Amino acid sequence: MKNPFEILFQPIKIGPVTAPNRFYQVPHCNGMGYRMPRALAAMRGIKAEGGWGVVCTEEVEIHHSSDIATSIEGRIWTEADIPALKLMTDAVHKHGSLAGIQLVYSGHNSPNLYSRSVNLGPRSVGVNGYHPHQSRMMDKEDIRNLRKWHRDAARRAKKAGFDIVYAYAGHNLAMPMHFMLKRYNQRTDEYGGSLKNRVRLFRELIEETKDAVGDTCAVAARFAVDELLGEEGMQASGEGRDIVAMLAELPDLWDVNISGWENDSATSRFKKEGYQEKYINFVKSLTSKPVVGVGRYTTPEAMLSVVQRGIIDLIGAARPSIADPFLPKKLQEGRVEDIRECIGCNICVSADNLSVPIRCTQNPTMGEEWRRGWHPEKVHRKATEKEILVIGGGPAGLEAARVFGLRGYEVILLEEEREFGGRVLRESALPGLQEWRRVADWRLTQIEKLSNISLYPESPITVDDVLETGIRDVVIATGAHWRSDGIGRVHWQAISGQARPEVYSPDDLMSGKIPAGRVLIYDDDHYYMASVLAELLHQQGCEVIYATPAPMVAYWSQYTLEQGRIHAQMLKSGTQIFTEKKLAKIGEKEAALICTISGAETVVGVDAVVLVTDRISNDSLYLGLKPYLAAGKLDTLNVIGDAEAPGIIADAVFSGYKVAFNMENEPEGDVPFKVERTQI
Ligand code: ADP
Ligand code: SF4
Repeated sequence: MKNPFEILFQPIKIGPVTAPNRFYQVPHCNGMGYRMPRALAAMRGIKAEGGWGVVCTEEVEIHHSSDIATSIEGRIWTEADIPALKLMTDAVHKHGSLAGIQLVYSGHNSPNLYSRSVNLGPRSVGVNGYHPHQSRMMDKEDIRNLRKWHRDAARRAKKAGFDIVYAYAGHNLAMPMHFMLKRYNQRTDEYGGSLKNRVRLFRELIEETKDAVGDTCAVAARFAVDELLGEEGMQASGEGRDIVAMLAELPDLWDVNISGWENDSATSRFKKEGYQEKYINFVKSLTSKPVVGVGRYTTPEAMLSVVQRGIIDLIGAARPSIADPFLPKKLQEGRVEDIRECIGCNICVSADNLSVPIRCTQNPTMGEEWRRGWHPEKVHRKATEKEILVIGGGPAGLEAARVFGLRGYEVILLEEEREFGGRVLRESALPGLQEWRRVADWRLTQIEKLSNISLYPESPITVDDVLETGIRDVVIATGAHWRSDGIGRVHWQAISGQARPEVYSPDDLMSGKIPAGRVLIYDDDHYYMASVLAELLHQQGCEVIYATPAPMVAYWSQYTLEQGRIHAQMLKSGTQIFTEKKLAKIGEKEAALICTISGAETVVGVDAVVLVTDRISNDSLYLGLKPYLAAGKLDTLNVIGDAEAPGIIADAVFSGYKVAFNMENEPEGDVPFKVERTQI
């Protein structure tokens, strides 16, 4: 039978090169960059192996004066950077895909903390990220230099083997975009004033890249058509459209999106699949060149539709290609149900923001391809016959069972609840988190295909039960529960009044025990939980007060690019917000908050309090079994996921993969993974 998605597998000509299909991994950061070139090459190579027809780099700095340390991106400052980049192009070419490079000159987005170069801008403006220095306004010589640096970098990119070379004007992170924006460009020379003048630099960079390398390389223009800032910024209904019209036939490919990064990579909590379509849908009407667009397309039907409706020619993807590097292959082979759909949590993004190697909630092998030898689709077979008992069917237990099963072991997975999924099941029922359910659903679908895995729901198990089974390899994945005494980062003792009946834990709310009236949510967790519970209570008609000892709402969510939207959502729902306040005391119909800076007390009237602080591992089974390991009654006993140490879902999935991968295969050496070291 004809593959209904066949059209997605048509080759697409892009200038002088041809992409083997319409699956296009757009440039994406990964926290590995210039510092971990081998790891990076392996990761990109696996995307190509999985069928992505084009695989791009992250932003690659073209010059030392465009240094965005402390972020770890690519570098093509000199010829000396070519060998590292060539590792990547070789890895991509090996599978017949095209390699693309996004050249960047970051302008006032580059704090130059490493190079200590003076920052350049269309005008003198404070450097992004509240760094306490400003850019210098570029003169004509600076602009000529920049153009030369870009041409030189393009030539080096060609030497490194790239097939597609970008001129980048996106995300408010790149100089050509800064020149185009009125708010940064108040120049009176031929690079300022009229739109034609403000676009001049971008036009020159595209033209000159074509002159430099266009004989063999395609030249892509990456452009943010809208910033969602209304008249203050670029608008698809205004200059965004005009710019595409002005440059329509100049590049070989248009890669279009919305800006800034928090809009381009919006999470599933706030934006659904295809959310960029309404901004970029005009582009194809203005150009005959292929257009690539993103919007976290994870379902094949949506991909097919967006191409068939003539919105884009190539399915751009960062996150869907991270969650499933083999998405195209699976679709080609008609294995739609095997596609590991991205859940839109942005844990991948958080790694880049924290300058550490990329990771993914759905795909635990992401970023581990080189250093641990992990592969998203392949695991080696078991060494000996073994039966393995996995206890707890949350993300950790499900992933462990799946991978043990793939390796050929006999696996028994026990879960005390009726449904498998653990915290994923509970949390995905909270406002905005529906897509997170995919973590459990995908694993259950995979497990169903493996006849060597047996699932037993409604099976709470004790130490004696485990010993009675006679199984000698046991994995404990029994999760954790939320504290209800307020102990956490800030409070090392129970909060006064925590035992009152009107005090709730997140588990209470998730099991349907919902308070009424004025409710204080105290957030010493700092990620999503307190804010989604605030939204839940708001939906239930409560008046919500939010207090946190941190300087901002949901502090850690800034790394997943959600902090602004979370804060805005709270304001919109009328939540009263207190930051830098710790909860000192819960009393009759009131709670006392203490300012962490001044010590001043604020008393708020409340009917109930929800404490979102630390969690406690459910490790009693593990601790109860440990002596039997020492006594030789068990061969292996592992505790994983939240039962070992409460963390995020990505940590639990990772630990599940790791325990199964490492069985009879423990890594050797003092460090359990390879480390990229500078050769001396
Ligand atoms: P993790 O994130 O580490 O996977 P979860 O809390 O999501 O942790 O999942 C742990 C799962 O273990 C829950 O679904 C819970 O019902 C189950 N569980 C806990 N204790 C037992 C037990 N003694 N026997 C069987 N299942 C258990
Ligand atoms: Fe998608 Fe989350 Fe994985 Fe990123 S970390 S690719 S958002 S599932």
